[in-house]
Amino acid sequence: MFVVENVFMEFEPAFNESSSSLSSSRSSCGHWYVRYGVCIACKSTVNERQGRAFNYLLQGLQLSYEAAAFTKRFTTRFYLQNEKKLHLVLDLDHTLIHSVRVSLLSETDKHLVEEAGSKEDLWRLDAEFLTKLRPFLHEFLKEASEMFTMYVYTMGNRTYAKSVLKLIDPKRIYFGDRVITRDESPYVKTLDLVLAEERGVVIVDDTRDVWTHHQSNLVEINEYHYFGVNDPEESESYTEEKRDESKSDGELAKVLKLLKDVHCGFFKVKEDLESQDVRFLLQEIDFRLLTNDV
Ligand SMILES: [Mg+2]
Ligand SMILES: [Zn+2]
Repeated sequence: MFVVENVFMEFEPAFNESSSSLSSSRSSCGHWYVRYGVCIACKSTVNERQGRAFNYLLQGLQLSYEAAAFTKRFTTRFYLQNEKKLHLVLDLDHTLIHSVRVSLLSETDKHLVEEAGSKEDLWRLDAEFLTKLRPFLHEFLKEASEMFTMYVYTMGNRTYAKSVLKLIDPKRIYFGDRVITRDESPYVKTLDLVLAEERGVVIVDDTRDVWTHHQSNLVEINEYHYFGVNDPEESESYTEEKRDESKSDGELAKVLKLLKDVHCGFFKVKEDLESQDVRFLLQEIDFRLLTNDV
């Protein structure tokens, strides 16, 4: 039960509300939070698989659709009111980092394997990968975390994501358990798995196609290609040009500025945060960029 309580610290009021309503009337339990087929609140076995798995928060955890909707609403409101924070979903590959399989590195970049670990932005991962952190990454995460509760959402598997997270968030202060991988979400990326209302979620990803239903939440970032690889299809790399993306003026710095605009626009109204929506703000910013050609 200890672990369960840990996970629900964030959602405690929501959780208490559902459990207290059932202690008064057991039959009214909606089996909101189910673990390995057993309702956390009323302890009865729940056979029908209605709802959604949230294994990334806790292995075996399932939320009913009502519980997911309630928790989303609750979380968004809680962070809006108490911390002035929205939610941010970040992709890993080509957005925050560039990883390549060592075996696929171009001949000219093979020597970088020896340098891994001697620089703080170049690392060997699980023997298999060489990983470069995008310039401005640490500053980006620090500043973004002051405005957003952050998730990582990657098409990589959990083992890979864990290794990357050890590099970019070793103390787990930015992402905590909020790491969604291919293991939970194999085909497309969906905000259904993010416990926040869609009107308060901004996505930053270099791949538009994976976000089929959430394009209006998306800020598309230019791909980061640091290493050269043995693949003629791949675009040019920074190592070929013997340089790297600019820290102060690169993609992450640009996106951070946009995120500040969205955050600022969202909280500009003093009351009625309920009717604010990042999707409208992003649309406005797009429109401004198009018309002013800034
Ligand atoms: Mg990507
Ligand atoms: Zn129940």
